[in-house]
Amino acid sequence: MGSPLHPQPATAALLQVDDIEVVYDGSILALSGVSLAVEPGAIVALLGANGAGKSTTLKAISGLVRAERAEVTRGQVHFLGAPLARTAPSERVRQGMVHVLEGRHVFAHLSVEDNLRSGGFVQRLSRADMAASLQRVYQWFPRLKTKRSTPAGLTSGGEQQMVALGRALMTRPRLVLLDEPSMGLAPLIVEEIFEIVAQLNREQGTSFLIAEQNINVALKYATHAYVLSTGQVVAQGSAQALLAGGGLQDIYLGKHA
Ligand code: ATP
Repeated sequence: MGSPLHPQPATAALLQVDDIEVVYDGSILALSGVSLAVEPGAIVALLGANGAGKSTTLKAISGLVRAERAEVTRGQVHFLGAPLARTAPSERVRQGMVHVLEGRHVFAHLSVEDNLRSGGFVQRLSRADMAASLQRVYQWFPRLKTKRSTPAGLTSGGEQQMVALGRALMTRPRLVLLDEPSMGLAPLIVEEIFEIVAQLNREQGTSFLIAEQNINVALKYATHAYVLSTGQVVAQGSAQALLAGGGLQDIYLGKHA
């Protein structure tokens, strides 16, 4: 039950995005009226072609839009029932939300292990917690353990994606915002990464909001999906229903209008 000190969350969703509008540079309208929800323990896909607004949606949620001279000019984002408008990106990480940016950003000159540690620093983990978290990440990504001393920039594209995801997991998130994990990777590596996502979801209850252009792999692993086109949600539903309904390719080609 709620109380004046601990009111009930306004919503049962882990993440609730209501009717947001995002403008870059004070003039470029990138999102107009995007709403979506991620329930606790869900894997939700955010689909759409190049430029549809997937990355902007994730940045609006994590607060990183500000770093790109963009602003959420309308609407609200709630995480764990609380509005985020005045919450700094670093505080959002402390609350359990982490953003893995598109393009596998790793510290190229640092070892794989130091890249992972940098995720733990954000949460100010104690030495013991840092060691325990590293071991957990190595359990999920055994490949990273064998490369722990290698500079991250010298590892393969798939391994760099694993480093980026592993570093995010060092923050012990409830929700991971994952931007195009499949980009530029061979199909087998993509499957390997999505299998790890599914395992984390099953075993840890970690929720995911995954922006993807690769419809097939995203809908294989997601429970629910939203389809964006020119900054608006043009379709949504269970992954099964979206696959059964067909027409997704048309949406990608801009034929929904
Ligand atoms: P991609 O897969 O290519 O990243 P996306 O679906 O993630 O595509 P966004 O990157 O969110 O799409 O782009 C949405 C719109 O916002 C596009 O019209 C894009 O040109 C614009 N946009 C994105 N980033 C910026 C920026 N830094 N400055 C100005 N406009 C931007």
